[in-house]
Amino acid sequence: MSAAAGPAAAVASTTGGAVAGASVPALDVVGISAAYGPYRALFDVSFEVPAGGIVALIGSNGAGKSTVSRVVSGLLPASAGTVRLDGADVTNRPAFKVARAGMAHVVEGRGVFASLTVEENLKLAFRQRAGRRAVAESLGRAYEAFPLLGARKGQYGGTLSGGEQRLLSLAKVLVVPPRVLVADEISLGLAPLVTDVVYDGLRRINETGTALLIVEQQVDRVLEIAHSAVVLEHGSVAFRGPTSGALQAVERLLGSRERAEAGDGAGEQRGRSPGGRDGAVPGSGAGPDGRAGGEGRT
Ligand code: ATP
Repeated sequence: MSAAAGPAAAVASTTGGAVAGASVPALDVVGISAAYGPYRALFDVSFEVPAGGIVALIGSNGAGKSTVSRVVSGLLPASAGTVRLDGADVTNRPAFKVARAGMAHVVEGRGVFASLTVEENLKLAFRQRAGRRAVAESLGRAYEAFPLLGARKGQYGGTLSGGEQRLLSLAKVLVVPPRVLVADEISLGLAPLVTDVVYDGLRRINETGTALLIVEQQVDRVLEIAHSAVVLEHGSVAFRGPTSGALQAVERLLGSRERAEAGDGAGEQRGRSPGGRDGAVPGSGAGPDGRAGGEGRT
């Protein structure tokens, strides 16, 4: 289990290989299952995010990516398995306690108050997270990291563009850099240039030592920044390991779907239609670790 930052460490970690003498991962997800009422959404999902590492969590629509991010953040209970944050068991703790333990969760379309200005949004977040005395310094840090926000500090949150709102959400976590930031589809619907700015923000946050779990539909984009990847398929891990392997897994899944659509029965046999957007992981099947996804779904 690796804790050192950097691609090599992340690869060793997500492949599940034990690294002698290495320390505790920032986020350790072990055998997580979860359900929405009778509908089982996750099956025995395991992976790690090393301290200071960047892991991409990718998969088609409905694969379970956001469900993983909800479970690790304490927003949805796990029906089985364990979530550890810096070695501490936070499984099924309330979200505010998981946040206090060092986890930040940024979700597309959430976390910006429309009727408050940019600066009021930031002040509120900073006061809540670090107390009144930390506000001035934190504002300086936020505007330094995201000059665009400084230029718009008097503008109401509700009038910001989608990209600016994502930056504001990211800036809020900078006051006390979290141990782990779960960024859930925060580039969704953004123009490519704006996505660049958001990803630049993620990179800056990682440079402060925060480990990132990036939930993303745009495979190419996230694999540029990630050290390693986890591919989900029908609620199960279809692949985990180096980003180059993730691309191969995606291609294999694509091939599987194409064959299924051509009618040779080699691919899509279970679950729902993936309905993937451009660049998303489609189809179904087992990955290099040999674990099939979706069986036993209720
Ligand atoms: P997308 O990329 O489309 O957001 P995802 O990989 O994040 O998809 P999830 O949102 O985790 O997928 O959903 C996993 C499965 O759980 C889907 O089949 C979805 O329909 C189902 N699901 C998600 N939220 C709920 C809910 N609140 N109630 C019932 N089922 C849900």
